[in-house]
Amino acid sequence: MKLIDTHAHLQFKAYDEDRDEVVKRNSEELEAVINVGTSVDASEKGIQLAEKIDNFYASVAVHPHHVDQWGGNTYNQLKSLSQNPKVVAVGEIGLDNHLYKPLRVLRSNELQGYPKPDLKKQAKILEEQINLARELGKPILFHCRDAYDELYEQIKDYKGKVRGLMHCYMGTWEQAKKFLELGLYISFSGNITYRGNDYIRGVAKKLPPEKILTETDSPFLSPEPRRGQRNEPIYVKMVAATIATLRNLRTEKAVQITTENAKNLFDLTI
Ligand SMILES: [Zn+2]
Ligand SMILES: [Zn+2]
Repeated sequence: MKLIDTHAHLQFKAYDEDRDEVVKRNSEELEAVINVGTSVDASEKGIQLAEKIDNFYASVAVHPHHVDQWGGNTYNQLKSLSQNPKVVAVGEIGLDNHLYKPLRVLRSNELQGYPKPDLKKQAKILEEQINLARELGKPILFHCRDAYDELYEQIKDYKGKVRGLMHCYMGTWEQAKKFLELGLYISFSGNITYRGNDYIRGVAKKLPPEKILTETDSPFLSPEPRRGQRNEPIYVKMVAATIATLRNLRTEKAVQITTENAKNLFDLTI
């Protein structure tokens, strides 16, 4: 069985120069890749990739970083994009209270120079997009940074009404337990391999196996020893290997568990 990368952005600028090769090797080596939307434009581009490649899927959303792009017509634009059969989720949506320094992110400008976060505005478009996911009956990819308690407060009343995952999980075990109570999955990216991130590994060790997912968040967060370089979905294998070690599993078993979990959550029939 092969791995699934539940969260990548192969539609981002970082791949403009060699996208065809990247797409080819990643589609061959993996069971599936979900290219996640962060804006209307990025959602459209993710869908275009998914239309070309059998085992690529897409999600649609406006990321909290791009809250200022939300307009009167955005809900309907996302809704109409999501009619495409390769769209399997709404996301990434959520709250981000992190103060990003202007970053040099490889060949991508995607994360450069964000202003101070406005959580109130973010909460508003989060709510709208939760409604969209409910209207469509699709799972949600939650993005969260430095705002896990605030996010939980906002979504706790949706217990039993939404499905989804916490992507690139960086919260505590106490917080993870609350998200599990809401029925959400927890997804780990390359930062689970970083020195100093024992708290993330601690969460990955304790989770019920049926709730663990793997991702890369490519082009960001390359696992050790590729840290700092542009990431690709194939390196999700290092995330799976770390989870296997933590849980005393053979890597093949970790692959099987996480792939089955992803297929269940996204109703993938590949
Ligand atoms: Zn994210
Ligand atoms: Zn992302």
